Amino acid sequence: MSRLSQSNYLLPLCGSRRRQEIPPQDHESSIGQDADSPKTQQAYSQANDGTVNTRNNEIRGIMKVSWFSAGVSSAVATKMAIGNMGLDKVIYIHVDDQHPDSMRFVKDCEEWFGQEVEIMQSPFKNVRDACMMHGKGYINGPHGANCTRHLKKMVRIKWEYELPIDTNLIYVWGMDSGEASRAERLTKSMTDQQHIFPLVELGISKAHAHRILKASGIPRPEMYNLGYPNNNCKGCVKGGMGYWNHIRVDFPDVFADRAKMEREVGHTCIKGVFLDELDPDRGRFAPIIIDDCGIFCELEAL
Ligand code: SF4
Repeated sequence: MSRLSQSNYLLPLCGSRRRQEIPPQDHESSIGQDADSPKTQQAYSQANDGTVNTRNNEIRGIMKVSWFSAGVSSAVATKMAIGNMGLDKVIYIHVDDQHPDSMRFVKDCEEWFGQEVEIMQSPFKNVRDACMMHGKGYINGPHGANCTRHLKKMVRIKWEYELPIDTNLIYVWGMDSGEASRAERLTKSMTDQQHIFPLVELGISKAHAHRILKASGIPRPEMYNLGYPNNNCKGCVKGGMGYWNHIRVDFPDVFADRAKMEREVGHTCIKGVFLDELDPDRGRFAPIIIDDCGIFCELEAL
């Protein structure tokens, strides 16, 4: 797949346009600023009205895609990208282990976006089947989670493989202002595409993204209301002790099945501690922050 010149396409579409509109000192100081500030109001306006700037859809050979994770930040980033430059596709890769409210959220967002959300799914469909695919199984490790690889990454690679060879891809991601280094890591790791991070560009934090979504009138996915920091699968294999003790209470069936799966595979989700031996008092009371599971969370494997 050919690469775009960043200076020719990416920056005019998003980065440099923003930086020209907002004085540098404003841009820097805006990170984490109050929701009533002019810049945040600008972001709200963009997210809620979609009345922003010049569209560049005429540029040939480019496909602009948001990989929508069904999380709040991803939804707001997608909405902003649609308003700012238009998108050719919004794609959500579903996993059966997602909370059922995820699909309600996807449909609500589809209306908000004013654009279809394409739903894709791996033939493995769920975390257990993805982790057990080789019989002896593998869950999680320094090279990433097996479920992410098979349920997300392979779906994306197959989709890319079927595109015309000269398609120049621009991907939109939902990282927020606190995830700039993660955004940078993604850009360095996925060099066949250009990448845009609307929330990082505008200095919008995770909390701001929630306020923007709230202003839209769309209820956030239920997992957030249960206290989780993202809308990952119920029983995400990347969670730590505090997270799993939260899952044990909220989704005892999921906890029990993951504990069983660990024994079948012979490896743990949490380094060195099997779930069926996890002390219910261990870990932080609040669930630990774990990354949104997008197709980029397998970066460690690249
Ligand atoms: S959210 Fe967690 S459990 Fe689900 S696919 Fe991603 S890494 Fe696996």
